[in-house]
Amino acid sequence: MSDASRNEPRESALAAAHAKGEHESGRVDGCPSCNVVYGLSQLIEEAVADINASVGKRVRYRSPNGLLLIGIAETVLVTQQIDGFELDEDGEPEPIWSRKRTVHWSSQQPRRSTRGPKLYVDEMGSEWILDDCTEEEEGG
Ligand SMILES: [Zn+2]
Repeated sequence: MSDASRNEPRESALAAAHAKGEHESGRVDGCPSCNVVYGLSQLIEEAVADINASVGKRVRYRSPNGLLLIGIAETVLVTQQIDGFELDEDGEPEPIWSRKRTVHWSSQQPRRSTRGPKLYVDEMGSEWILDDCTEEEEGG
């Protein structure tokens, strides 16, 4: 008889006890369900530790053409004032541009790509999403 088949009755008894909630106070040695739960909680703890270790780390991004991202593309509503209209040769009203304009700063918001994420601007003014860029450590 192999070790595996010899362990089967004990393992199924442990799994049944686990299903009834009898292992809630702690991991029971040899219980396959406890091992699954323990393995998952270990993975979660390690992932959280990885995230915590990188919080606050300064990084920068380079666009696919190798240029640094230096800004966020944003839009803001502007009202260009006019000094009335004049009719053109077809009788259509054409605005007479004023030199005054009003910038509505409260309307400022990031532009987004058609895929959804925010658009960032590189040193030459091209726009990119972070997923298309390369992260590097600052000073690296
Ligand atoms: Zn268990």
